[in-house]
Amino acid sequence: MKQEIRRIAILGSTGSIGTQALDIVRANPERLSVEVLTAQNNADLLIEQAIAFEPNAVVVGEDKYAHVKEALQKHDIKVYTGAEALCQVVQMETVDMVLAAIVGFAGLRSTIAAIEAGKPIALANKETLVVAGALVTSLAKEKGVNIYPVDSEHSAIFQCLAGEFHNKIEKIYLTASGGPFRGKDKKFLSTVTKADALKHPNWSMGSKITIDSATMMNKGLEIIEAGWLFGLKPEQIDVIIHPQSIIHSLVQFEDGSIKAQMGLPDMKLPIQYALFYPQRVASTFKRFDFAAYPSLTFEKPDMNTFPAIQLAYDAMKKGGNLPCVLNAANEVAVSAFLNDEISFLDIPAVVEKSMNKVSFIATPTLQEYIASDSEARKEAHSLTKTKISL
Ligand code: NAD
Ligand code: MG
Repeated sequence: MKQEIRRIAILGSTGSIGTQALDIVRANPERLSVEVLTAQNNADLLIEQAIAFEPNAVVVGEDKYAHVKEALQKHDIKVYTGAEALCQVVQMETVDMVLAAIVGFAGLRSTIAAIEAGKPIALANKETLVVAGALVTSLAKEKGVNIYPVDSEHSAIFQCLAGEFHNKIEKIYLTASGGPFRGKDKKFLSTVTKADALKHPNWSMGSKITIDSATMMNKGLEIIEAGWLFGLKPEQIDVIIHPQSIIHSLVQFEDGSIKAQMGLPDMKLPIQYALFYPQRVASTFKRFDFAAYPSLTFEKPDMNTFPAIQLAYDAMKKGGNLPCVLNAANEVAVSAFLNDEISFLDIPAVVEKSMNKVSFIATPTLQEYIASDSEARKEAHSLTKTKISL
């Protein structure tokens, strides 16, 4: 039987997720083709990708527009720039699925635009659900759009739920490697540098999520993301540290049975599962060798040394615009840390202070989410300029 080719739009194609998604397209030319590629800064890589995959359109950041336009002149590829263009290209009739792999709040509007146009979403951009989960999931429901998780933990839960859709989830366990500073105390954390924080033990990812993994805010964001994806309350979501990153997460059902999904840490698998769902497609990814892992270990997270997890639970419990504020303050703090403006321990401190400062809105509209994001950024930004150390 002839396969139908799925035409995809990859938002954030030059990033860690975007480039791995293109490896999957390259390995499956009879099943996938690229309709749209987008990037903010890395014009040269975007040009190279566009020439190799011949999309219908590309979108690039304003500074790089002239360069990309010129380089692709001889090719039959439309070149656009700006946030509006991102929202328009995902709605093109020829797009069958959108891989949302932009980092941060910047990915929100294009994902909403894609849902509005009825496009299935492969969602890597967890910040979209953290910021505006209520709005995004209700819009997806209204439009009959499926959101397939790409985040490895959420993909694991989703895979465990195959064949279980009528069975209630008692709780889920999100696994976390613990990052580069697992087992360390606050005194140690007060001395760590950007280079230390960027060394993740098991995964190679973009810089923002790598810092989020070091602070454990990544797990905090994933708690909120899981709540929206699987309709769970905060008390149904637990975090367990699993340093080997082999078990990617677990679901516990009402009879007490626990299902886990496991494999070597490789984002290509969850990306591929989302792009081909419901099919499992043969791959050449490296296979797990049990003998190489004689023990898989588990421990409780240290919520005192890594307060980000608790901040996320607090934001989730209170809801409204608070997760949006947490996310915006975290984006500002991470970027300030990467610019050597604040220390590692200042990151959760900036987030906490911003959460206490920004005015609460219980059921925000999209405009109010955007306004809360700006207000939180302003607040966090001013905190990074003052000495707020613990
Ligand atoms: P990255 O920094 O490697 O890539 C980000 C991409 O987004 C780039 O293509 C960049 O050009 C684009 N981008 C950045 N700012 C933009 C803006 N303002 N407007 C338009 N485009 C912009 O990030 P990544 O590690 O690939 O992560 C992407 C998303 O996937 C994040 O939300 C992250 O949390 C999530 N995620 C990543 C991994 C991973 O292994 N990298 C795992 C799970 C989830
Ligand atoms: Mg994850």
